[in-house]
Amino acid sequence: MTLAQDSAARTAVVTGASSGIGAATARQLAAAGFRVVLTARRKDRIEALAAELTAAGHQALAYPLDVTDRAAVETFASTLGACHVLVNNAGGALGADPVASGDPAQWLRMYETNVLGTLHVTQCLLPALTASGDGTVVVLTSTAGHATYEGGAGYAAAKHAEHVLAETLRLEIVGQPVRVIEVAPGMVKTEEFSLTRFGGDEAKADKVYAGVAEPLTAEDVAETITWAVARPSHVNIDLLVLRPRAQASNTKVHREL
Ligand code: NAP
Repeated sequence: MTLAQDSAARTAVVTGASSGIGAATARQLAAAGFRVVLTARRKDRIEALAAELTAAGHQALAYPLDVTDRAAVETFASTLGACHVLVNNAGGALGADPVASGDPAQWLRMYETNVLGTLHVTQCLLPALTASGDGTVVVLTSTAGHATYEGGAGYAAAKHAEHVLAETLRLEIVGQPVRVIEVAPGMVKTEEFSLTRFGGDEAKADKVYAGVAEPLTAEDVAETITWAVARPSHVNIDLLVLRPRAQASNTKVHREL
């Protein structure tokens, strides 16, 4: 199946659509009438989700893509055709060690995925987003992109950089028909985020959400993204921060233990 298809529907590309927030966002954008292009490294997962969405009467395609692979991103962009919305969601955290003992390789990997991944995909799709006459770039940062916490320096540094990318891009392309929307969630309980962060250690991953009555869900964030994207073209939601009620800051969390 070729990616460039004739369709009246507007096209939304979601990176990291194989799990969590990305998968939920793909579902909600499809339900909102977008033709969704699901990308992530795990082909089986995005193909299964695309099949599920197609069976439900939506338009969905899967395209395996590592956002850190510039050549692959360029090839993707050249085969995509029209693009109206890009959701830069691929990313995540690795480790929670203090600065004194943090692993530089994890810091580098987080920078490559969250920052350079967003840079590669945004740069390569910007011509199509602009040509659409009404494009939207969503950048999924985090509350870690706006304040730090102990053990969070590597992730917070990457998310701060991703925030700066979004803010600078908005300045640079003002006057062109492309919005730049940053969505910065606090604690979201997704099945893989904390497991990935702690190298598959379930006990450590569970501890992140211990006693928190209702962390945000992937669906909560997906709804927020879909709402922001669905505003009239002249309305740019620059930055939307959302947290669970039980979380007042990155370090102030109410736990019932
Ligand atoms: P998740 O379930 O672990 O999802 C991460 C997604 O990123 C996966 O689909 C993964 O797919 C993809 N990904 C990772 N590296 C990639 C690469 N090199 N190329 C392409 N795709 C890649 O985590 P999530 O909670 O949904 O997080 C999604 C985004 O929200 C991330 O940017 C994260 O930093 C941010 N966020 C999360 C939270 C939270 O508390 N969960 C809070 C604030 C912000 P593959 O492995 O299949 O490639």
